[in-house]
Amino acid sequence: MPSAPFSVPQERLLVTELPGPKSLALQERRVAAVSRGAGTLANIYMDHGSGAILVDVDGNRLIDLGCGIGVTTIGHAHPEVAEAAYEQAKKLTHTLFTVTPYENYVRVAEKLAQITPGDFEKHSILVNSGAEAVENAVKIARKYTGRRAIVSLDHAFHGRTNLTMAMTYRPWPERVGMGPFPGELYSVPISYPFRDGLSGEEAAAKTIDYLQTHIGASEVAAFFVEPIQGDGGIVIPAPGFYARIAEFCRENGIVFVADEIQAGIARTGAWYSIEHHGVVPDLVTSAKGIAGGFPLAAVTGRAEIMDAVQPGGIGGTFGGNPVSTAAALKVFEIIERDDLIGQAQRVERALTARIGGWAERFASVGEVRGKGAMFGVEIVKPGTKEPNPEGLSAILKHATSHGVIPLDAGSWDSVLRIMPSVVISEELIDDAASVIEEALEKLG
Ligand SMILES: *Cc1c(COP(=O)(O)O)cnc(C)c1O
Repeated sequence: MPSAPFSVPQERLLVTELPGPKSLALQERRVAAVSRGAGTLANIYMDHGSGAILVDVDGNRLIDLGCGIGVTTIGHAHPEVAEAAYEQAKKLTHTLFTVTPYENYVRVAEKLAQITPGDFEKHSILVNSGAEAVENAVKIARKYTGRRAIVSLDHAFHGRTNLTMAMTYRPWPERVGMGPFPGELYSVPISYPFRDGLSGEEAAAKTIDYLQTHIGASEVAAFFVEPIQGDGGIVIPAPGFYARIAEFCRENGIVFVADEIQAGIARTGAWYSIEHHGVVPDLVTSAKGIAGGFPLAAVTGRAEIMDAVQPGGIGGTFGGNPVSTAAALKVFEIIERDDLIGQAQRVERALTARIGGWAERFASVGEVRGKGAMFGVEIVKPGTKEPNPEGLSAILKHATSHGVIPLDAGSWDSVLRIMPSVVISEELIDDAASVIEEALEKLG
C-alpha cells in the first residue's frame, strides 16, 4: 500500500442513480460541443479520485477497474506526483529539449535504461503519446536496417495515428473509412491459446511460415509485439512463442520491438511484461502508466539501433516535457519505494482467488486469464467458445450503472478487461467482482 493516505475512502458509494443529474446535464452540453467520434464507455463525469476510487460530479464513489486504460497504475492523483509536477511547473515548463536541454529528460532516459530488460548500453527518446513512440520505433528500425516492411500481430493495438492505426488489427471502429494507409505493414498470426489450442512452438512456426511466404524475412525491418495484448483482449501467447519469434528476428536481422505501452511499468508484476516470457527485446516502447497520468512516452533500446538516426531525425515540440518528466521520475521512485511491482503480484493473487473460478461457475465465461493487475475474461455464448459481444455489453452496462468501471477489449468486443490500480484493496476487488457476478448470473 502507498505511504500516503488516500484522500477518498476506498469504498464504493452510490448517492444518486448513475449517471446522476449533474452528469446528465454535462452530457447534454458535451453532445452539443464534442465530436461524437470521441465515444465514451460510460457517460459518468468524474471530479476527483484517489487510489482505486473515482468520485463523480454527483458525489458517487466508483471502483475504477480500468485506470483510464492502464494509466493510473499507482492510483489516482497521487499527492507526491502532483507535488513534483507543481514544483517543476513553477520552475520551468518548456525549453524544447532539442533547442536547449534539461536534466529531467536525461534522468528519465537513465532510469529507462536501468529498468528495461537487457544488460547492454541503451539509449532513449521521449515523446508525447504511445502512438508517437510506436511511429518513432518504426522510423528508427527502418533507418537502422535499411528495410521497409513492418510486422505486427493479429489482434494488435498500436495507436490511432495514420501509421499506427494501419498497424492495428481490427478495422472497426479504429480504421473504417479513414484510409488511405501507408504500405509495407503486415499482420501475422499470434499465439492465442484459448482460440488456437497450439503450443508456443507450434504457433511460432505458423507465424514464421506466414511471414516467410507473405513478406520474406530479408524485407522486414521490425517485428512489433505486445507481450500481453491490451485492447486485443489480454491475449497472452503460449510459453515459448516469443522466445522463438525473438530468435527468428535475431537470425534474420529484424529489430524485435516490445510495445509495452499498456502492459509495462509495473502493471503485470514486473517492470515490463516481456520479462514473463524470458525475452530481451531490441527496442521497448513505454507510455500510459509512466507518469501517473501526465502525457509522456518513450522508445528505449540498444544504443546502436537508437543512434542509427541522424541528429534532428527524431523529436517533437513537447516530447519529454519538463513537467511530465518530473512526474515520471516521481512515479519511478514510488514504484520502487512502495514495491508496487510486489503490489501488482498481490493483485494477481487476489484476482485469481476471487474470479479465477468464473469459467467453472458461469456458462458465459470461456476463460479468465491475466498477469499482475491486467486480467481478461472471455465472454462467450453459453457453453461455447463463440464470442458474445452482447453479453459483454450487458455486463458493462450493469457494472457502470452500479459504480464499477471495467473496460471492454478483444477483436470481437467480447473480452471483459480488468486493469485496476495496483494499490486496489482486496475488499474493493471483492465488491467489484460481486457486482460483475450479478450480471454474469443474468447471462446464464
Ligand atoms: C494505448 C496504446 C498505444 C497508443 O498509445 P496512445 O498514447 O493512445 O497514443 C499503443 N500501443 C499500445 C499497446 C497501447 O495500449
